[in-house]
Amino acid sequence: MIYDVLIIGAGCTGVMTARLLSSKNVRTAVAEARCDVAMGATCANSAIVHAGYDAKPGTLKAKLNVRGNVLMKELCAQLGVEVKNVGSHVVGFGGEDLPKLKELYERGVSNGVPGLEIIGQDALRRMEPHVSPEATHSLWAPSAAITCPYGITIAAADNAVTNGVDFYFNFPVVSCAKEEGVFAVSDGEKTIRARYVVNCAGVHSAELAAVLGERDFPITITPRRGEYFILDKAVGHLANSTLFVCPSDRGKGILVSPTVDGNLIVGPNAYPIEDGDDRATTAEGLAEITAGARRIMPEVPMNMAITSFAGVRATPNIYDFYLKRSEQVPGLIHAVGVESPGFASSPATAEYLVGLLEEAGLELTDKADYIPTRRPDGNHIQFNRLSEEEKAARCRENPAYGKIVCRCETVTEGDLLDMLDAPIPAVTIDMMKKRLRAGMGRCQGGFCSPRVAALIAERTGMGLENVTKNGGGSWLVTKRIGEE
Ligand SMILES: Cc1cc2nc3c(=O)[nH]c(=O)nc-3n(C[C@H](O)[C@H](O)[C@H](O)COP(=O)(O)OP(=O)(O)OC[C@H]3O[C@@H](n4cnc5c(N)ncnc54)[C@H](O)[C@@H]3O)c2cc1C
Repeated sequence: MIYDVLIIGAGCTGVMTARLLSSKNVRTAVAEARCDVAMGATCANSAIVHAGYDAKPGTLKAKLNVRGNVLMKELCAQLGVEVKNVGSHVVGFGGEDLPKLKELYERGVSNGVPGLEIIGQDALRRMEPHVSPEATHSLWAPSAAITCPYGITIAAADNAVTNGVDFYFNFPVVSCAKEEGVFAVSDGEKTIRARYVVNCAGVHSAELAAVLGERDFPITITPRRGEYFILDKAVGHLANSTLFVCPSDRGKGILVSPTVDGNLIVGPNAYPIEDGDDRATTAEGLAEITAGARRIMPEVPMNMAITSFAGVRATPNIYDFYLKRSEQVPGLIHAVGVESPGFASSPATAEYLVGLLEEAGLELTDKADYIPTRRPDGNHIQFNRLSEEEKAARCRENPAYGKIVCRCETVTEGDLLDMLDAPIPAVTIDMMKKRLRAGMGRCQGGFCSPRVAALIAERTGMGLENVTKNGGGSWLVTKRIGEE
């Protein structure tokens, strides 16, 4: 079988592109090194649907962010993923920050960001009563929003599978040959053939370019790690919107923001690292983000932190996203250096990449029987999002919905079983966690993980010893007691 398009990398960039292609009459595959979608930067970031004032006017980042902000909200509505239009403030401390806020305001106006305003201390404190009394101004961007970056990516991937896209997981691309105009892309054992290839490999995208045949590729990537704390939902109300400090040349600065699920997120810092897959947190880094968060919100209760994590940016040696057709390898398209606002931009980046495929000669016509929802029968609505009447009806219909497995996040056995029947079945503990939040609450999976593992083992028949936390060798059970 020869696909029309093979996308390498199932982060938000690759998945949004696959989903868009699934609405056309082309055969599309996605090859992903790990066991699930959204395993790279897409699963560990600030989750902000940025408004679009930060990027320099005229750049792809600016154009795709502003369009992506609109498209992301539409996509969330279409696929039943929650998005909250909370807006964002860039908070200034005294007159010295005012020129930077004005510069961002001007950029935003040039980029076409709606509703921007620089507001003074009184207005800021009315909107955000817990912001530092030393904050004097803010750039208010009402179109900024928050959603779940891996949630919408998973939903878009399910939608793509429903419309015929094939995902190849645990497929790290290590070599590529071209035979009679067709790419033969291999993980060392298996081969996928396609007429066009799109490189969406995140922090590894520049290395992958060489594997795909580029010589003297102009882009290099420096991985830059950012660390975070997540605070308990009990203090989620302390911020109504995303609060950034005035940015520095090391990034957008440390933020305090509500999450779409009602927690508070604090972070990130930004440090270059050697290994793009190193997502460890450090005591020094977490102390730095604590200090940064206290500058915006002096009373932020860091003793309410329930977990910490880190994500890695794919920072290129140029200012912009590198979205281009290869000059050396016909049929190859690159999405390289897609750092922030890469998530907010992703639905618009997908449009841009599909445009490049068309320019390269791919013929695209609309699919008459395209299904716009996650599954042929609609979007999955989780038990904890139903009204009391709907919950009662669902339990009557199927008693598995009456069995709570994750008590912190009210995830039922019915929800978990449902995810095993999804277009991309959730067959690891973390796949369940990312789809349903089982294990993301205060106890961080201490109570529910064994039951989740048992359900996966029972339903798939894979045996408990083969259930992993997150693919690879992350088994939970190595042997039974008494076994050698
Ligand atoms: C700390 C931090 C904060 C951020 N905050 C925001 C924010 O608030 N808003 C925003 O818009 N953006 C934000 N971003 C940026 C955003 O997360 C990224 O731009 C976006 O997730 C990039 O998506 P991607 O699909 O290009 O890459 P990724 O999500 O990294 O996906 C790349 C995929 O390629 C796979 N892969 C790599 N090599 C191979 C191979 N050889 N074969 C097969 N598969 C391969 C990887 O396993 C991975 O799954 C942030 C990023 C970080 C790190």
